[in-house]
Amino acid sequence: MKKITLAILMSFAFGISFAKPTVEIIATGGTIAGVASSSSSTIYKAGSLSAQQLIDSVSGLEDLANITYQQAYNKDSGDLQLSDWIKLARIVQKTANKSNVNGIVITHGTDTMEETAYFLSLVINTKKPIVLVGSMRPATSISSDGPLNLYNAVAIAGSKKSINRGVMVAMNGDILDSHDVTKTNTVSVQTFKSPNAGPIGNATMGDVTYNSPLSASEKVPFSVNADTKLPDVAIIYEYAGVNPEMLDKIIETPNLKGIVIAGVGDGNIPSYEGSFLKKVRNKGIVIVRSSRVGSGTVTYDYNNLDTSFDLVNGNDLNPQKARILLMLALTKTNDTKKIQQYFNTY
Ligand code: ASP
Repeated sequence: MKKITLAILMSFAFGISFAKPTVEIIATGGTIAGVASSSSSTIYKAGSLSAQQLIDSVSGLEDLANITYQQAYNKDSGDLQLSDWIKLARIVQKTANKSNVNGIVITHGTDTMEETAYFLSLVINTKKPIVLVGSMRPATSISSDGPLNLYNAVAIAGSKKSINRGVMVAMNGDILDSHDVTKTNTVSVQTFKSPNAGPIGNATMGDVTYNSPLSASEKVPFSVNADTKLPDVAIIYEYAGVNPEMLDKIIETPNLKGIVIAGVGDGNIPSYEGSFLKKVRNKGIVIVRSSRVGSGTVTYDYNNLDTSFDLVNGNDLNPQKARILLMLALTKTNDTKKIQQYFNTY
């Protein structure tokens, strides 16, 4: 018997509603849309297939949801610029505002997926699920992970269980929160992890479960429009034996408004960088103290750094996400106390 007839019969018999959700796929490129010269080649061009080709490659997608789609751009995510984020945010907000759309899937390169996900979580105002998905193997590869990842992402975005859970990443069966998720392996399909929190849920062949009930979600703190210009914020990676003269070059950058320091250990900064930190603060550049370690929370005022140099504690955000929150915070204020409040909240 055809699936559709069975569904209608069952809905009469059991009073079950089989109304399908509508999920809009916004394609942006990445390996999920990548094409290699052979099925075992590790060299490929990300962002080669169109949204329509991606959707056509996943059988059964139309059983999960009515699919609509649009192509925001088709890029390797390592090439994304701040203007691409603004463009994407505007598309996503417009799509979320459509009354017929229940959820959104964004196909995306994995290299900077965590950054786009966190950025969107701070600027998109909606209760509808937003799910970023990609793949580690190109579409043409043996055992490409793209089709099942996309299938699961559509199931997550179309599920009522996902309402009010914000922006998520769906990769290799795990559902990960945008605040916590990070890429942890250069090539493995099990690369996305949330080192501090673990996954929030799981999707197995389109079957979606969450590990915990919903916590009340807060209104997003920022918004962007066509005129939004995000300020320049740099990341400095600390290591034993940093030459402070190199650091001085960074602050010659015109329009630099912020620096995130990926400190060693607990966000530690070599003591001989004290005069550099003072110089930076005297120029009005805000400094956020984060860590290069990859998990854990940076302890407030470790080695008296925050109070001595008026630094902002980046808490549990990795340096690349701390940069995003600092850029957005700087669109509102330069006051380190107020910026600390943002870091304590988001
Ligand atoms: N370089 C690719 C990208 O981020 C990698 C991937 O998607 O896995 O677009």
